[in-house]
Amino acid sequence: MSKLSDRRIEQLALAAVDACGRAYAPYSKFEVGAAILMHDGQVIVGCNVENASYGLSLCAERNAAAAAVAAGHRKWRGVAIASIGGVPPCGACRQFLAEFGLDMPIILVNLIDGARSVCNLSELLPSSFGPDDLPKSG
Ligand SMILES: [Zn+2]
Repeated sequence: MSKLSDRRIEQLALAAVDACGRAYAPYSKFEVGAAILMHDGQVIVGCNVENASYGLSLCAERNAAAAAVAAGHRKWRGVAIASIGGVPPCGACRQFLAEFGLDMPIILVNLIDGARSVCNLSELLPSSFGPDDLPKSG
């Protein structure tokens, strides 16, 4: 598993906590922030954005991932996710993040007590489906 220094983990965790403060979650009241560390050291964040048409709601992780791609970054060093309880990403977000690398540390930040736990995306999405499973064209 690729490793992040304690300093990087802390930087990423704090960015996720900060992004969580901007979540738009008037329906579930479950606010989530995510922060992704780029290879150049830049951090790109996202928060969950809910909608009155519930099915349109977006998770923080996918928002951050889309913002990272839009900013031109496709190789990431790690992701931090902050929430009450420090919950892991949902299945859709695990798949979405895996597109950009399964060997990536995931830092879960519990807003209640500040606890951080680190796992690897490959542990959260075993036997995953990914780009290499598609037939090669041409
Ligand atoms: Zn999700």
